[in-house]
Order: sequence, then structure tokens, then C-alpha cells
Amino acid sequence: MAGLVFGGRSDCMTIENRGTIEPKDVTAIEFECNKCHTKTVRPLNADLNVPGVCGNCQSQFMVEGQEPNDLRILFNLLIRQANAKQPYTLRFEIKDLGKKNE
Ligand SMILES: [Zn+2]
Repeated sequence: MAGLVFGGRSDCMTIENRGTIEPKDVTAIEFECNKCHTKTVRPLNADLNVPGVCGNCQSQFMVEGQEPNDLRILFNLLIRQANAKQPYTLRFEIKDLGKKNE
């Protein structure tokens, strides 16, 4: 989601164009192999399985251990945040997202 943010004092208004996403905007995770550039897209849900190797050239993405565990923690956090009712809205600012959608 790209949006305009208005801020500043009334005598000094600034207009800032920023692209942001919320956890509920993240619907899938893409893994692109740096060797053959094959993309693997997995829907973001509780059953998401972190790929250990490239599905095309079999390059090893990661070994079982901390890295896939950290990714699972991140993905589970995104899922929980997307479904949580909280007194705030969490947004990630994405570099140049607004410009690409113009
Ligand atoms: Zn590959």
C-alpha cells in the first residue's frame, strides 16, 4: 500500500510519500535461487515449509538449524500480527514502493 503522509506544524506542513505494508498484506514468501534464479513462492500460512534446497538446481539454501528456525519465527510472527487485534497498527516501510506503483 502506498500512501501520502501529512505531518508537521500548520505553519510548516510537509508532504511525504511513503510505501508501507502491514503484516496482513503479506500473503506469500518468495525464495529466489541466487544461482539459477528459479523462484519458489510459498503461501504465508502455518504450514509454510522453508525450502532447504532450490527446487530446480538443488543448490542448498540452508541447513537445518538456526536460520530456518529464525525464518519460521518471523513467518509465525507475521501470521499472528496479521490476525491480532491490537491498539496499534504495525507497518513496514518499503523503500521506493510508492514510486513503483505510480
Ligand atoms: Zn537454483
